[in-house]
Amino acid sequence: MHPKVMVVEDEEALSELLRYNLEAEGYEVEVIDRGDDADLRLREIVPDLLLLDWMLPGLSGIELCRRIRLRSETKTLPIIMLTARSEESERVRGLSTGADDFVVKPFSVPELMARIKAMLRRSNPGKVSSHIIVGDIELDRKAHRAHRNGREVRLGPTEYKLLEFLMSAPGRVFSREQLLDGVWGHNNYVDERTVDVHIGRLRRSITRGKEQDPIRTVRGAGYSLNDKFVSA
Ligand code: CA
Repeated sequence: MHPKVMVVEDEEALSELLRYNLEAEGYEVEVIDRGDDADLRLREIVPDLLLLDWMLPGLSGIELCRRIRLRSETKTLPIIMLTARSEESERVRGLSTGADDFVVKPFSVPELMARIKAMLRRSNPGKVSSHIIVGDIELDRKAHRAHRNGREVRLGPTEYKLLEFLMSAPGRVFSREQLLDGVWGHNNYVDERTVDVHIGRLRRSITRGKEQDPIRTVRGAGYSLNDKFVSA
């Protein structure tokens, strides 16, 4: 079963970009370009996740979100709100209306994909694989444990989340800001250097058996997990 993602977005270029990327990740995608149509459709089917634009014809994303939360069938439906507005007060309004997460346009597609994956994992662990393997690193998401080369890697909660986030998209370069958003959450007030500190700890933990360092520092850009590496 592929997780079903509903995209409610009236900008066709954006909804097509989202459809393309979501389908490439193996999701089943339905695009709706009006708020009122989405309201009706959500009474027929309940997707696994909703990507909801803020400004929509027919019915605003905010109002739709409020209605979704009032109905028992969709009360816990994971919602990521997309918006062109970045003001903090608007974010708060969006979150208090019941959105689970908030992404400001223009956003990075890999970051959004990583957030979708993380949210589906939290809401519906059965639909997302409980084990991920990249190279010789294996993550057991149910037990929150990491192994490298069969050896258990002891990680703090932040290092675990960081590794999980990097492993969700091997080879992709994440900026410090994206890592902060993805790992610490978008309401964090954490300095970007904190990312470097935790990357350092993660590196030490996963190379404790003298294995090769799988994390690549990309100067001026951020960090990435090598998608091709073997232990030394
Ligand atoms: Ca719009």
